[in-house]
Amino acid sequence: MKNTNMHIHSKYSWDCKTELEDIVKELIDSNIYYAGICDHIEFNCEASIYVLTKFKIRNLEIDELNEKYKGKIKLLKGVEISSPHLYPNKVESLKELDLDYIMGSIHKIDRKAKTEEEKRKGSIEYYKEVLKMVEANQVDVFGHIDYINRYYKQDYSDKEIIKEIFEMIKENNKIIELNTSASRRTDDLYISFPNLEKLAMYSGIKKEITIGTDAHKLEELNYMLDENSFIAKQLGLEPVIYEKRKMIKL
Ligand SMILES: [Zn+2]
Ligand SMILES: [Zn+2]
Repeated sequence: MKNTNMHIHSKYSWDCKTELEDIVKELIDSNIYYAGICDHIEFNCEASIYVLTKFKIRNLEIDELNEKYKGKIKLLKGVEISSPHLYPNKVESLKELDLDYIMGSIHKIDRKAKTEEEKRKGSIEYYKEVLKMVEANQVDVFGHIDYINRYYKQDYSDKEIIKEIFEMIKENNKIIELNTSASRRTDDLYISFPNLEKLAMYSGIKKEITIGTDAHKLEELNYMLDENSFIAKQLGLEPVIYEKRKMIKL
């Protein structure tokens, strides 16, 4: 089976400076074939026309690199939209970009919460937002479902809402990602987003996942990929990729 990393950021993300060709060279060295370039879209502060123009340019660059490195790597055109359910028309306008997949993620978290009570409240708000995003059913993959653990360093999630989220994802024939950045972002408290408990629950409901490192730097392109692939396999999870918004099993 060819190795995949479906969550990679490049200079086309606001918080990343890495050149696409440098990413390609590093991935080829790491023996990763399917590479999902999954740059941020922040519709709350990026104008739609800027987003469309920027991604047209990026996609041309991806086409050129796919041609230049044919047989060695296949770059896929992804985006990671923050809170897509708040911007239905703008998400719709991305159709002209011919994307391979769209990831939806919630990054809005009450980061000032300090006390147990504040964190519990923050957690309830966060998962309500995740549920709304899942209900809106606009995207293919849901990113780092319990990303809030990065900031709270403890899991305040309620099993019932997580189950509701996963069952709705299954009903809509969508999937989640297994994001390997958790250990570097939680001082090794969690191995993945979602954490083991949620991954195990997910595997009882749905099998397909994408695996990605959420790399913003070259040295993060391979981060905990083998370890998490092993764990996913033991849980019976199946890594997939997307092309032209269609899921492809590997
Ligand atoms: Zn994210
Ligand atoms: Zn990301």
